Amino acid sequence: MTTSKDTSGVDLDIKDAIEGHERFRRAFEREEAFYKTLATEKQTPRLLWIGCCDSRVVPSQIMQADPGELFEVRNIANCVPPAWADDEAVGAAIEYALAHLGIDDIVVCGHTGCGGIAALAGPVSPGRDAHLARWVEYTRPAHRLVAAARVPDGERSLATIRAHIQFQLDNLMTYESVARGVADGRIGIHGWLYDMEAGEIQAYDPKSGAWQGLLDRAE
Ligand SMILES: [Zn+2]
Repeated sequence: MTTSKDTSGVDLDIKDAIEGHERFRRAFEREEAFYKTLATEKQTPRLLWIGCCDSRVVPSQIMQADPGELFEVRNIANCVPPAWADDEAVGAAIEYALAHLGIDDIVVCGHTGCGGIAALAGPVSPGRDAHLARWVEYTRPAHRLVAAARVPDGERSLATIRAHIQFQLDNLMTYESVARGVADGRIGIHGWLYDMEAGEIQAYDPKSGAWQGLLDRAE
């Protein structure tokens, strides 16, 4: 492991981060009233966003959302462990979003080229990457489904990413507050897929089982 340092030993990654914060400080000062309101009033985000850690898929950028609009959970491969699984991070965020923030829409957003999904098809070493190996097991059902459906090689990656999102919607329904909210029409759950090359979101339609452009939907 090496760190990127310049000739005087300055860590370039941290230097870059500090410069970014410097630019943010200027933006903050320009919009101080907005940020003051954010800081002093209770947050009222519009969506619970469950997405991947991937640094190239930035929710606030692809949704053009301001601070305060997205309540985000990001983990490798945008997993929603079922309610009975040994994970509290996602469940806690779901409960907080629904019960304390009054959020009524949950988006699970995957993306093309997801390394977390590809991990099970490649060499995850259980010895070296113990946490990762356990975590990516949450993508196993999608891999199994796609293998059983004998999807051709060239389509397997996209099919697995899509199936994984659909499974996470099922997993959302294992949380009592989500299931109750969906049953009585208070809460909407949405499976989205961000296509990194096209820069657009595809949405899953549970009624037809089809995926279509988010902007093409008649809503
Ligand atoms: Zn990913």
